Amino acid sequence: MPLLAPAYGASEPRLKFSVKICRTCFIFPGFWHYTAMAIVTALAEEGAGRRKLQLSSPVTLKEIGKIEVQNEQDIGAALERARVAQKAWAKVAPQERAKVLERALQILIDKHEDYIDVFVEESGKIPIEALMIEIYAACDTLHFCATRGPKLLAPRKKKLHGIFQILKKLRINYHPLGVVAVISPWNGPFILSLGPVVQALMAGNAALLKPSEVTPRSGALVGDLFEEAGLPEGLLTVLHGDGETGAALVNAGVDKVRFTGSVRTGKKVAEACAGRLIPCALELGGKDPMIVCGDADLELAAGGAVAGSLFNAGQYCCGTERIYVVESVADRFINMVVERVKTLRVGNTGESDIGAINWTNQMDIIERHVKDAVDKGATVLTGGKRCPNVDGLYYEPTVLTNVDHDMAVMTEETFGPIIPIVRVRDEEEALRMANDSQYGLSANVWSNDEVKAVDIATRIESGSVCVNDMAMAYGIMEAPFGGRKLSGLGQVHGDEGLRAYTFAQSIVIDRFGGKPTKEQYFPYTAKKYSDVQKAMKFVWGTRVGRWFSS
Ligand code: NAD
Repeated sequence: MPLLAPAYGASEPRLKFSVKICRTCFIFPGFWHYTAMAIVTALAEEGAGRRKLQLSSPVTLKEIGKIEVQNEQDIGAALERARVAQKAWAKVAPQERAKVLERALQILIDKHEDYIDVFVEESGKIPIEALMIEIYAACDTLHFCATRGPKLLAPRKKKLHGIFQILKKLRINYHPLGVVAVISPWNGPFILSLGPVVQALMAGNAALLKPSEVTPRSGALVGDLFEEAGLPEGLLTVLHGDGETGAALVNAGVDKVRFTGSVRTGKKVAEACAGRLIPCALELGGKDPMIVCGDADLELAAGGAVAGSLFNAGQYCCGTERIYVVESVADRFINMVVERVKTLRVGNTGESDIGAINWTNQMDIIERHVKDAVDKGATVLTGGKRCPNVDGLYYEPTVLTNVDHDMAVMTEETFGPIIPIVRVRDEEEALRMANDSQYGLSANVWSNDEVKAVDIATRIESGSVCVNDMAMAYGIMEAPFGGRKLSGLGQVHGDEGLRAYTFAQSIVIDRFGGKPTKEQYFPYTAKKYSDVQKAMKFVWGTRVGRWFSS
């Protein structure tokens, strides 16, 4: 099976605009000579310099280069530059900041195929998924923030209630926080770096981005893009390295951390931020359930199950990780899913369906979960092992039945092309099992009865739920997105998502130049006590008063 289509030739990188070592990506010796990067292992210390990491391709498993881990001094220098640049950037009107985003959008449209080459080479994604996950979503993010940002960030007047509406005016200013650290994972290495960076910059902050050590080149492209778009120097620096660099960045003195990654690391980031009393938003792992009701359109639901579970080879934070189907339709639904899965093509040609597992650690988790399930009695209806006769990191799309919540595949995040299906008596049992999880990121419900589906969706303990589609709320910028339980802290997107990169400052102005409050405070007298008491009894103790104060 050909693993690389001619368009993504392994020996000659096509990314001409990144051949130089740019200012946002300042430590990559020989970096651009390598073709595909994703598997990362530590190398022994080589003399006094920086620690190095060895990178290998998930497509060929061949060694393809090294990166140097940036240290506290590098981060300190980048932070200093960011502080200086941010002071000037904060004074730039949001409309002008938006112009940089618009230029970046145009560059991305013009050069998107060069970018896709990098994503495909680095992570083994198939081209159309690289286009949808990384580019399409990035275009939408840039355009959305550029067009909505100025309005959302403009100072607001807010109408007050009760006596305050007569006496006071409220103005809310949205000040940038300063320097935001963005730490991103490997599964959506460009969009999950770009999205937070765009929001931080639009809100008037500087950003220090540390992409995953598994996919450094995709993260570096965010720096390249903004450099080419004319973002002032120092406002965005890409810092490379592993957990050590990430931890140093969190502790460097930044003003906010936006972290996307695993629960394990998220907890460490939260602890470090708590120690410094700085805000953090954590987008963490999930174990998203799918509920197939008895009245669902089974053709559509089966298609949704396959797409939701196998998109990005299952390495998708909102991927469907477990399916509960009502017994009355279970046989037909399972057959449809299996038939569809059997037609899928694994590999990295232009028209493959399932790409590579991004790195060895992830393959280990997938193999462990399937083995654990099979050892405990699960049935493999299709797939169930690494692709035979393929050198790279490819796993067969797999359908499992006879699974239960004693198996890791039903309780821990698998992040692979695995579809475990459970038969349930009815929708209530499906709901109970869907909520029997330590995670609460996203979910999807399938039914022809919208009222019923929305009722079930409302009772699912997750940050978002899609009705009659795979979980894709993350891609809808208006939708507040975040995880419940262990799946995260804080929300991104929606109006408050952008404003979360600011500090909302309240300015309360007396309408009468302060005259009404002249007599209100000292010296206190018995009469003043009685006046306040009377006012309280009128306002909240009578119907007219309550109407007035609402
Ligand atoms: P990870 O936690 O191992 O690493 C994420 C990032 O944190 C990397 O850049 C890593 O170098 C850095 N890091 C590691 N240790 C650190 C530390 N102590 N301090 C600061 N940074 C540190 O996660 P991963 O394996 O790269 O990503 C996969 C996970 O991300 C999955 O669990 C997936 O569900 C989750 N994810 C969540 C969302 C979401 O929106 N909720 C989106 C995508 C991925």
